[in-house]
Amino acid sequence: MAELTVVEKMSELQVDGSKKGAKENGKDGGKKKTKNVAGDSAGKTELSSPPQYIDERLTLYAKLKAEHDALIAERAAKDSKPIKVTLPDGKVMEAESWKTTPYQVACEISQGLADNTVIAKVNDDVWDLDRPLEDDCSLQLLKFDDEDAQAVYWHSSAHILGEAMERVYGGCLCYGPPIENGFYYDMFLDNNEGVSSNDFPCLENLCKKIIKEKQPFERLEIKKETLLEMFKYNKFKCRILNEKVTTPTTTVYRCGPLIDLCRGPHVRHTGKIKTLKIHKNSSTYWEGKADMETLQRIYGISFPDPKMLKEWEKFQEEAKNRDHRKLGREQELFFFHELSPGSCFFLPKGAFIYNALIEFIRDTGPQGLDFDTPELLQSVALLRC
Ligand SMILES: [Zn+2]
Repeated sequence: MAELTVVEKMSELQVDGSKKGAKENGKDGGKKKTKNVAGDSAGKTELSSPPQYIDERLTLYAKLKAEHDALIAERAAKDSKPIKVTLPDGKVMEAESWKTTPYQVACEISQGLADNTVIAKVNDDVWDLDRPLEDDCSLQLLKFDDEDAQAVYWHSSAHILGEAMERVYGGCLCYGPPIENGFYYDMFLDNNEGVSSNDFPCLENLCKKIIKEKQPFERLEIKKETLLEMFKYNKFKCRILNEKVTTPTTTVYRCGPLIDLCRGPHVRHTGKIKTLKIHKNSSTYWEGKADMETLQRIYGISFPDPKMLKEWEKFQEEAKNRDHRKLGREQELFFFHELSPGSCFFLPKGAFIYNALIEFIRDTGPQGLDFDTPELLQSVALLRC
């Protein structure tokens, strides 16, 4: 039997945290599932009959939307007037209030521009491309390379993922925001049910279907008490309504069977998302509070061009190889433990380097000047000198 490496020996000394289950689970980590995060090992499939709340929600929404559309049509007929839309280059375009949308303005300039625009900004506020303009305004048409447009793109993608999650798990959606690189959606599942990376193919296929259907994102402003009725099946959305919404009305957005409490805006329809990948899941708590409900979080990334996804995947692979946690273990310098995630345990080789560097800086630095910083930061900073 081969001799144990130092890392293996040290690992034996670690407090065994494996029974607690990994908090995070990447696509490749599916084989190492633990009870906490793993669901059915064969992976989920779409529910044979969708959760009942989907139909009830749609029925109420359809009634409200018909009323809203009638009101908008009446307003367009009665209150519409010529307005001026100023573009960033100073060009002024003629439009009609309550009728002309930013998308129509973009089409007037060029179909290519209209197709590539992710979101509009009206008087510096992000604005749905299909939402009619209301008065004289400035208009920007933002593409994916704009940071605000990227956030809208990823936020819209989170709705697609949320729709798929409802159709696969049938739980209660919580928050689904864009993040620095992509998006996630949190869901509360009954009976401590978990999510497994084996579920990702089913979720991704469903997302692809939703994208293919080009489901329009519809915006609808609704009274808070009606929303409490619409989301009565979901205590988390009711919490948001009761604790965060301070106005008498707020908006929901619909794409396909999903109706979600959301301020928006979004891309025009789900078909604007050209490629979407689900790559990680983890468990978390409601609003990050450990004494609240455990939620399942699923992460995704999407792009308007498949080439961009390839580049992102390549970058992720390279970043994984450069990860100091991986290198530290491989080079037998240090390791991390979940009991001390931000501070490493130095192994003999790592401790030797660390002590040598401390000695070096004490010998060569200004006399009488000592310092102490988080340990790893100190080592990395010194190595860069
Ligand atoms: Zn939204």
